Amino acid sequence: MDDMSVAQPINGTHGASVAGPRNIQLEGQVPDIFAAPLTDKGSLPNLHFPFAFAHNRLEDGGWAREVTVREMPAMKELAIVNMRLGPGVVRELHWHKEAEWSYITAGKARLTVVDADGYLSVDDLEPGDIWLVPSGVPHSIQGLEEGTEFVLVFDDGNFSENQTLLITELMAHLPPSVVAKNFGLPEAAFKGLPKEEKYIFRLPVPASLDEVRKQLPNNPPPQSYVFHASKVPPNKFDGGSTKVVDVKQFPETTLSALIIELEPGAMREVHWHPDGDELQYYIKGEARMTVFDATNNARTFNYRAGDVGYVPKTLAHYIENTGTEPVLVINVFSTRRYRDVSLNQWMALTPPDMVRGTLDIDDTVMKALRRERRPVVR
Ligand code: MN
Ligand code: MN
Repeated sequence: MDDMSVAQPINGTHGASVAGPRNIQLEGQVPDIFAAPLTDKGSLPNLHFPFAFAHNRLEDGGWAREVTVREMPAMKELAIVNMRLGPGVVRELHWHKEAEWSYITAGKARLTVVDADGYLSVDDLEPGDIWLVPSGVPHSIQGLEEGTEFVLVFDDGNFSENQTLLITELMAHLPPSVVAKNFGLPEAAFKGLPKEEKYIFRLPVPASLDEVRKQLPNNPPPQSYVFHASKVPPNKFDGGSTKVVDVKQFPETTLSALIIELEPGAMREVHWHPDGDELQYYIKGEARMTVFDATNNARTFNYRAGDVGYVPKTLAHYIENTGTEPVLVINVFSTRRYRDVSLNQWMALTPPDMVRGTLDIDDTVMKALRRERRPVVR
């Protein structure tokens, strides 16, 4: 007998109950994987990875976990790190080969950046705020009195948070005579240098931003590395709102983003991105997405807070809020400028006889298309 008190992979006359072993809790979280819509077809790669399944590196006062091409082979252009730093806890002074885009999800963080032109940026960020550190530019992060949590998105799927260039390791790998000569001091001055990385470690909660800025030259960069997106009102649509962050906020960026809030039942309309991959990080709520590819391939995925999604460039998709709470999701793209192609707009701006004759749709649909005003959320 089928146990119908738990979900079964049955859709009309398709499917059958599970007779063997099963993980009911996980199956319940991914209903469109477990019992796929009959419109799904073919063998698209996996485009869902929960941070809950990512190895978590525990350090003194914080942790870091990452979802990269190693976790999800489709992630060729982008990788994501989730990091927690307790009060005063520091992510060591470092740099990397990739550009870093960050979004604060909890608490407050202080970001310090010194660039190749000698400009200096020290700023405090709160939930919803964003930073962009171009490749090669040194920086550090510190949790303020309430600690902080954030995600970091990098413009290469092969990135690893465990392979950044660290100031401790740089110093440890220079001959002591070279360190001494570099700073014009005796070798003894550097006898306390750490022999290994510190990576994440505790320091006292730092002084106020004003006090710290007074200790340093007042030399801010002409273009900020920080965008206080939490202070900027979103673009409102029927069913939700969006914020675009791209080359307009960060002239040197290689990454752009769309921050989306969707009310229960609302949907980010069907679209695709002509020139970049999309990485999704779900911050609130539950959603589903179908991704369509040639030839005749489609697969539907389910996401919830703490999950990562991915859409390779040019593949059609939507995001539907399937829960009872608002969905908050950030989409980060491997392009300088945010761009999408809307299915609605494409059809609305194509000669009506062509659209009608291709899709066999009637005047009700054609009239609705004429009213189309390029909604981002509907
Ligand atoms: Mn970094
Ligand atoms: Mn998209």
